Amino acid sequence: LNWRCIFLEEVRLRFAPSPTGYLHIGGLRTALYNYLFSKHNNGKFVLRIEDTDQTRYVEGAIENLIESLKWAGIKYDEGVFVEDHKLVQKGEYGPYIQSERLDIYKKYVNELIEKGYAYYCFCSKERLDTLRDEQKIKGLVPKYDGFCRNIPLEEARKRIADGEEYVVRLKLPHDKDIKFHDLVRGEIVINTNDIDDQVLLKSDGFPTYHLAVVVDDHLMKITHRVRGEEWLPSTPKHIYLYEAFGWEQPVYVHLPTVLNSERKKLSKRHGDVSVEDFRSKGYLSEGLVNYLALVGWSPEDDEEILTLEEMVEKFSFERVSKTGGIFDRDKLDWVNGHYIRELDLEYITELTIPFLKEAKLIDDKFCDENKEWLKVLVDTVRGNMSTLAEIVDKTDFIFKDEVEVVEEDAKEILGGENTDTLMNAVIEELNNIDEIDFDYAKIFMKTIQKSTGIKGKNLFMPVRVALTGVAHGPEMVNIIYLLGKEKIIARANKVLGR
Ligand code: GLU
Repeated sequence: LNWRCIFLEEVRLRFAPSPTGYLHIGGLRTALYNYLFSKHNNGKFVLRIEDTDQTRYVEGAIENLIESLKWAGIKYDEGVFVEDHKLVQKGEYGPYIQSERLDIYKKYVNELIEKGYAYYCFCSKERLDTLRDEQKIKGLVPKYDGFCRNIPLEEARKRIADGEEYVVRLKLPHDKDIKFHDLVRGEIVINTNDIDDQVLLKSDGFPTYHLAVVVDDHLMKITHRVRGEEWLPSTPKHIYLYEAFGWEQPVYVHLPTVLNSERKKLSKRHGDVSVEDFRSKGYLSEGLVNYLALVGWSPEDDEEILTLEEMVEKFSFERVSKTGGIFDRDKLDWVNGHYIRELDLEYITELTIPFLKEAKLIDDKFCDENKEWLKVLVDTVRGNMSTLAEIVDKTDFIFKDEVEVVEEDAKEILGGENTDTLMNAVIEELNNIDEIDFDYAKIFMKTIQKSTGIKGKNLFMPVRVALTGVAHGPEMVNIIYLLGKEKIIARANKVLGR
């Protein structure tokens, strides 16, 4: 009778980040799995902000989190949104920012105290520090020793009335096995002897995460708590709190940590970790989200290229692995490259433009006047790009005033007997036309072939090296169109030593 009837009620999941600065890539994956599961079940997805640790608050962090989720295409139904540069909250279970719910937590803390599930603790920081040091020396796991557990409630209330500082702690029973089922990890048993009498309410009147998360998940009717496995050791405390309140337990799901290639947690010291880092390096949201979904999960058909809709359709926790998922940068590049090649050209071009601007290869005016040209530019090289940022290195030979021939094989090609004839023919041909449009670019090499009688490799290679500086590269037709008349003449002249 105590089973949760998840088939009868609406599935409701939440992503509950703390606004500590930026959205970690592991956090994005947690948000994504929450999203996928809720949408797979036609349920609701909530964004709640867990800002009860005021010491860790970072200005602008909430907006930044929301922006990252929006960029990734992860939509939620309720919670905190940004509209007209302002934070707004929507949904019937608000407020969704924990620091605005302090009265609610106070009420529930009092209930726990009344029922004997929590107690006031007056231990000073000094006492707790000494205790911890002593325990460490003895090789024990630091843990509160229960010094205030048995202070009668009347006495405690009197001490508070007299102005003594206090916290409220959870009164865990001794030596009790707390058992639960985790959808990814299976049966889990943790004994209360291994858990601390957790602080629930701090001396500043703020709840700790542990109290707030349970109260909110219950009041917001959250059916599945899906979060990183670093929270697994706290789960028994949460289960006990649900029990203490007499509330129905949610379904528990703990996700494997996202690891780097050395099987360590991705950390800021070792490179990119925030969604923002990947965005600014030129990863598409489609590529990052697709790849990230596969770090720890795979669909039944082992398909690796999936749209968000396809992921929603195929997602299940049964196929999430128990062990940490390795975040493989090469694989990400491969998936991202796929989307750069396959998505709509206009869309990819728009996303690429900021990188060209940043590198000062183009400016706003150029951009407005050369939309079609830019599309050809991107189309010419996107087959070989794994990030948008690579557009700069791949195309700067087009923008440069002149190209330097440095590679030995290219120098050799240019030193061949046909080069001068070809360059002269190129210049002469172009002097007869106004400008190069794409149709003309298509027949240009044929024209040079006719006027010089030089064919095949002997024709193409010297012209390619003269125009690009290297022996291999993208389609000649595109290069001719992109460079245009003046630049081609200048490059041919340079080869001729003029
Ligand atoms: N606020 C917690 C965090 O920042 C959320 C943990 C949970 O989802 O319960 O990771």
